[in-house]
Amino acid sequence: MILFISDLHLSPRSPGATALFLRFLADRARQAQALYILGDLFEAWIGDDDIDDPYHARIVIALRATADAGVQISLMHGNRDFLLGQKFADAAGLRLLADPYDLTLPEWSFVLSHGDALCLDDTAYQEFRTRVRTPEWQEKMLARPRFVRRLVARYFRWRSRNTARAVYADLNPSATDDFLRDHGYVTFIHGHTHQPATHDHIVDGIHVERWVLADWHEDCGEALVWDGEMLKREAIVFENRP
Ligand code: MN
Repeated sequence: MILFISDLHLSPRSPGATALFLRFLADRARQAQALYILGDLFEAWIGDDDIDDPYHARIVIALRATADAGVQISLMHGNRDFLLGQKFADAAGLRLLADPYDLTLPEWSFVLSHGDALCLDDTAYQEFRTRVRTPEWQEKMLARPRFVRRLVARYFRWRSRNTARAVYADLNPSATDDFLRDHGYVTFIHGHTHQPATHDHIVDGIHVERWVLADWHEDCGEALVWDGEMLKREAIVFENRP
């Protein structure tokens, strides 16, 4: 069994979602062979030197314990935590995935992405994304003292709240069709938009499913479960005990 989650947006300001995730790692996730985290695990990440922050240390230790229990954990960057690096991955016992990532299983194939790269209608965001994903920008950023990076992260959050959008821009339809074509018409799983739904695309006469993961809230999360035959949505709530 394989689990997919995304958009937890964990931070000290979301104690409910944090507790849910720690509980999820300690029980539900351990029934899976693999766990895929498709971006925005954290609300913000200013560099791997922040692992020693007590809040982050708790998450790293919990991920590590689940990995050590035999669950293969894979993590993709989101638009909030794209500075997560190899030091974090090693400490948490997980592997970093490229975005997009082709997941080929014996029974079925998927393509995984955070989803923000296809939101082409938000041109301001795409310009920002292109800039901050270059090694030059990241090196310059990571060379700054932590307090400066915290201020920059706070500014980014403030700016994204001030773009007067109630929800994130959705995926651009024709870019999405091209993406599905390029990836061989396999089932597409992504997050980012916080608009959970299962979409049917017809590309070149072929039916392709696109599953959008829900973001996590203080009282409820969501996982997609692949049991070898089909995908199912599962609510992650406190009552959900094995
Ligand atoms: Mn996102």
